[in-house]
Amino acid sequence: MTRLTEQISNPYKPPPPGSDDPHFGVDLADFSQPERIARSGMAVQAVLSGRVAGVIVNRFPYGNALIVETPLSDLDEQVLARLNLPEAPEDVVQPLALTCPPYPLPEDWQSRPRSLYLLYAHLQDVPAVTPGGMVECGQVIGAVGDSGNALAPHLHLEARIGPADVNFPSMAHYDPSATNEEMAAYCLWRVSGLFQSMDAMCLLDKCSSAP
Ligand SMILES: [Zn+2]
Repeated sequence: MTRLTEQISNPYKPPPPGSDDPHFGVDLADFSQPERIARSGMAVQAVLSGRVAGVIVNRFPYGNALIVETPLSDLDEQVLARLNLPEAPEDVVQPLALTCPPYPLPEDWQSRPRSLYLLYAHLQDVPAVTPGGMVECGQVIGAVGDSGNALAPHLHLEARIGPADVNFPSMAHYDPSATNEEMAAYCLWRVSGLFQSMDAMCLLDKCSSAP
């Protein structure tokens, strides 16, 4: 656990609402010692059990990535207290300076319970899991890589609270090959305000930012 905080190559720095500036996640790298060169190949294990809400196949910027949804009702009280959950939003936020097709919003999002979504990005390979299937806490879901927008191998771990049962079949942006559906899904995830970003390190009781 102490070592984990030494592995942070880029901490959590959330931008203002509607903005897509970095950095929404926490970057963890497997550094060689003493050279501190980031290596690929280290196994990535799921932090929590949950449902596969998205498998992203080598798209910019997340590369090979996996989104796992865990209902807040599955988390124990201590974890919930550490997360210091934000109030549920009343409406979506319009994007600032980002091209966004209309958000693919589930109509009943306001009445849905909330879930924690964890995104594991820049994996070496496409995660060998099925959309809609289950992932167990501790299950190896892939290996640290540098797919997508990664200058060096690292795991980008991004945590968001949002309405339950939303799927992200793919997402992409900042790339001419991104389809409207992929951009809309990216915008819903990143800037709509419906998927509220939080510091993933708080899950492990190691919040990177001051509370
Ligand atoms: Zn990152």
